[in-house]
Amino acid sequence: MPLPSDNKELLRELKERLAIWVDLNQVRGLLEWDQQTYMPLGAAAARGQQSATLSALAHEHLTHERVGELLAALDDAEADSAAGLDPVEQALVRVARRHHDQAVKLPESFVREWATVTAEAQQVWVQAREDDDFASFQPKLEKIVSLARQQADYLGHSGHPYDALLDLYEPGTTTAEIRELFGPLRDETVALVDRIAAKQDKLSDEVVRRDYPELLQEQFGREVASQFGFDFQRGRLDQAVHPFAISLDTSDVRITTRYQRNHLNAAVFGIFHEAGHGMYEQGIDPQLDRTPLSGGVSLGVHESQSRLWENLVGRSRPFWQGAYPRLVELFSEPLAGVTLDRFYEAINTVEPSLIRVEADEVTYNLHIMIRFELELALIDGSLAVADLPAAWNEKYRDYLGITPPNDTLGCLQDVHWSAGLIGYFPTYALGNLISVQLFEAARAAHPQLEDQIRTGDFTDLLGWLRSNVHRHGSVHEPNDLLQLATGSKLDARPYIDYLTSKFSALYGLE
Ligand code: ZN
Repeated sequence: MPLPSDNKELLRELKERLAIWVDLNQVRGLLEWDQQTYMPLGAAAARGQQSATLSALAHEHLTHERVGELLAALDDAEADSAAGLDPVEQALVRVARRHHDQAVKLPESFVREWATVTAEAQQVWVQAREDDDFASFQPKLEKIVSLARQQADYLGHSGHPYDALLDLYEPGTTTAEIRELFGPLRDETVALVDRIAAKQDKLSDEVVRRDYPELLQEQFGREVASQFGFDFQRGRLDQAVHPFAISLDTSDVRITTRYQRNHLNAAVFGIFHEAGHGMYEQGIDPQLDRTPLSGGVSLGVHESQSRLWENLVGRSRPFWQGAYPRLVELFSEPLAGVTLDRFYEAINTVEPSLIRVEADEVTYNLHIMIRFELELALIDGSLAVADLPAAWNEKYRDYLGITPPNDTLGCLQDVHWSAGLIGYFPTYALGNLISVQLFEAARAAHPQLEDQIRTGDFTDLLGWLRSNVHRHGSVHEPNDLLQLATGSKLDARPYIDYLTSKFSALYGLE
């Protein structure tokens, strides 16, 4: 079929083809959501085949020769000032090309091997973690590291091979930039953790570890998520063992959580967190639906949205000044006689711990930086997989002052490496940094923001995020989006200052 000569026609055909690719991915997403929420266990094998079929179909559509031809023709046209594409259309071509190029650069044989190895590795990892047996996982991880290096070579990179892996999750950010951000962040966080450790007994989280009936946790979580602005007409909340958020369209965004009867934090802050991810997806311009621009722009920006609602709003004093009476109303027994101050201290207790997903705001980034440093060393070959447990434990000792008693509580705790997700971890810390940069920009635009949060009015905050972040979907590159929204580039300083000021006050540090 000859190519249309008109750019608008080229684009129209490209969009039609990519809409099918988006549909297939979202249907696969629905299967995944079901798998993690309601699917009977016995369906695992059948579901695996169904998902694999949809993945293969989606891959075929994305890498179709015609898509390559259309992109090439639009490429030629783009250089022409009379290309006639508006900025959103140009972004669509750019993002489509990135997905297409990434997909065609990986040979089919590699993709198949990667899928097989990671599927097996995850099963082996589950057992290894249960048995505290790193040795049984070691050969699988060695294979994954070697495949990840190969993947980086296929994708291409000019600096560190890790750049190519990072780019899959955080387009446009390099290993060198992460190192530069993490250097001062690590040193100052370690120093802050030391100062807090000297006053360890000042705060206690005992009150959030009492008996909190799950149904009431859910009720409170739903009320707050609605108040924040999560739209239950276009979204759902369900239970999952490993909580996540997933968008099937801007009109259908699913979030999940898990309830722990003896610990209020998991579900309450978990729902705030996932609602933040969900509101991002719900706020994307529906005009971008069924294009490669639908969906959050990067994992770091996504995590900034969840952490902003979880921590900057949800763990702040103004928020609880408004919300605490309702919490006490629902949980009159466990919270009998507990003052707002004591509750605020309980949800902000800092304690170096072994498990990343349970970490507090101060120590969380240290867990991430440890993983980043180890991943780099694994990828550049300076650390052998066999030496990973020892290297892991040494870093926990150095940065957090604690030593894992075994590998289950150490280097076997996260699913990421067994799933082949190398280059993913840094985005969690980037999300924390970006959350403070965005929150400060929103506060500069709305000086009454904290008073509004105190009265349970989140309209201006959500409105600011909607217009500066959400609605753009993936139109702007992550770094450009941040620059447009805040006037600054990615910077660790605001986050360090935020932590220092908040926790100095809480712990009475000079
Ligand atoms: Zn998240």
